[in-house]
Amino acid sequence: MISVSMALSIISKTPFTPNLRTLLLKDANGLLLAEDIISNIHMPPFKQSAMDGYALLLHNKNSYQIVGEVKAGDAVNYSLEPGQGIRIFTGARVPDNANTIVIQEKVNRSENTITIDSEIHLNQNIRAVGEQIKKGDIALTKGTKLTPAGIGFLAGLGVTEVKVYVPPTVAIITTGNELITPGEELKEGKIYESNSLQLETVLQQLHIKQITNYVVQDEYESTKETIQQAINNNDLVLISGGISVGDYDFVKEALSELHTEELFYKIKQKPGKPLFFGTNNKTMIFALPGNPASSLTCFYIYVLPIIQKMMGITAIGLNRTTKLITKDFVKKGDRAQFLKAKVSGETVEILEGQSSAMLYTYAIANALVYIAENVDSIEKGNTVETILLPQ
Ligand code: AMP
Ligand code: MG
Repeated sequence: MISVSMALSIISKTPFTPNLRTLLLKDANGLLLAEDIISNIHMPPFKQSAMDGYALLLHNKNSYQIVGEVKAGDAVNYSLEPGQGIRIFTGARVPDNANTIVIQEKVNRSENTITIDSEIHLNQNIRAVGEQIKKGDIALTKGTKLTPAGIGFLAGLGVTEVKVYVPPTVAIITTGNELITPGEELKEGKIYESNSLQLETVLQQLHIKQITNYVVQDEYESTKETIQQAINNNDLVLISGGISVGDYDFVKEALSELHTEELFYKIKQKPGKPLFFGTNNKTMIFALPGNPASSLTCFYIYVLPIIQKMMGITAIGLNRTTKLITKDFVKKGDRAQFLKAKVSGETVEILEGQSSAMLYTYAIANALVYIAENVDSIEKGNTVETILLPQ
């Protein structure tokens, strides 16, 4: 059995090669750019109106003669004389020699003449060519996470494909004879299977799309065959349950039979003691305890950092902070603990119901309080390490 810090250190030292690929821009939300994106155009590409109004070539009077109209999308250019202007609309090409735009609300028009009573400033309401970005400049740097706004920005520069860190392909293998799929009738001795959906959901939050679900009974041969198949086809294999020491837990034996290199098995922690981590060829394998709360905590603490590294993310793990504990806490046993908790402002409350089978507490928690193995008790009002859960 190893300590939490040793397990995290082993994980951080495990080598891997990130997958880089060129994807369609539309498929790249949430992913990190693997290279700088250079703009091929000026943005805006032409002198552009920011408002609906009149583009003018200024002179020393407040009345102007309107000699034409340019609407959004038109390619025309007018050559204005001082005192002349055109009707113009938002997004339209501004004549090369127009030097201001007056919004229509500030104009009185009669036939083809307008008069303006308010002050006019040079270049007002005109977007200069390349004002947002110039051709050849870096639009977004390597390592930027693409968001809806980032995708919109690049699409506006005409970009259709981007080279990104692609997420791993992930297999989820669910073990357990007692498990029934939600929606089916619940029979005596059975429970609804929830780990696979829980894991799938947290993977989807990370923008992982290639997830394959496998289901096996507590039976040695099929467990082994399924794990082999999952290893062959995925970068990361997450196994739920069957990793403990019961007579019907076959995952550990199957993994060694398949020549998986064991990097650790069993951590001095609660929940999630029987966590296994290993590699097989280039596939990373985690066998997570079946208890739903243990499974999720092990995911957040140990699996998430690996996935983040695979996806080019440098600030890995969940955000950690310190908060003031609202009640005295006494730890039982000598294992480190991850406790479901609720942060509010500067304080954190450790919730009732910490059993590793109890998901209700997790469902209403927004944090995990970490108590190191060498800590026995903490008095109310002291600070505790608090891991913030993604909301
Ligand atoms: P195991 O790690 O296989 O010994 O399972 C530990 C506990 O977690 C048992 O009470 C199982 O019934 C429960 N469990 C295992 N897998 C799942 C699952 N996929 N969904 C819900 N509960 C599970
Ligand atoms: Mg089981």
